[in-house]
Amino acid sequence: MTRMLLIGPPGSGKGTQAERISDRLGIVAISTGDIFRFNVKEQTPLGIEAKKYMDAGDFVPDSVTNSMVRDRLAQDDAANGFLLDGYPRTVAQVEYLDEILAEKGQSLDVVLQLTADDEELVARLLNRAKETGRSDDTEDVIRHRLELYHTQTEAVVSKYDERGTLTRVDGIGAIDEVTDRVLAAIETTVRSAS
Ligand code: AMP
Repeated sequence: MTRMLLIGPPGSGKGTQAERISDRLGIVAISTGDIFRFNVKEQTPLGIEAKKYMDAGDFVPDSVTNSMVRDRLAQDDAANGFLLDGYPRTVAQVEYLDEILAEKGQSLDVVLQLTADDEELVARLLNRAKETGRSDDTEDVIRHRLELYHTQTEAVVSKYDERGTLTRVDGIGAIDEVTDRVLAAIETTVRSAS
């Protein structure tokens, strides 16, 4: 059983890698971005609230995001491990996740950061915008999302780094190569802990 986080800037391929890793390890991948997009599509109250922030490239407020994650982690399929993709993104979310896990007597086994430089990310995201038409993939919004990553989410990375639980993986390269690197990093981390 593995409980892990995959952290990475927008465009680093973390959604793709999260799906592959979850298949390989037999754990559920939970993407807060996907849950929000599903709710936007279905026009649920959560989706209507989240859309305002998502379209601007801002974070959905912690009050909304945290309780959504708490509910999702309480579902049966998360009992035997999970891979969280896109959460936590703020230090307050780290503290909230600490609480959720502590209540269950659980802890994280692996925290991975996928790394890539900004210009490569902007190029990839502009490309993705042409293919998928995601409403938050315009250049201004992309740059804003990257800025939030640097100002908010890197503090999350530092926090796990201070705790000694962080592993960095180079996110540049062919999708298969990156998957191999991620799987190798997970194996090394889990093995050295046991
Ligand atoms: P993603 O697919 O992970 O890039 O997320 C898309 C958008 O969903 C983000 O730009 C935010 O607006 C929102 N979002 C996803 N995860 C979070 C989170 N942990 N905290 C706040 N907003 C989030």
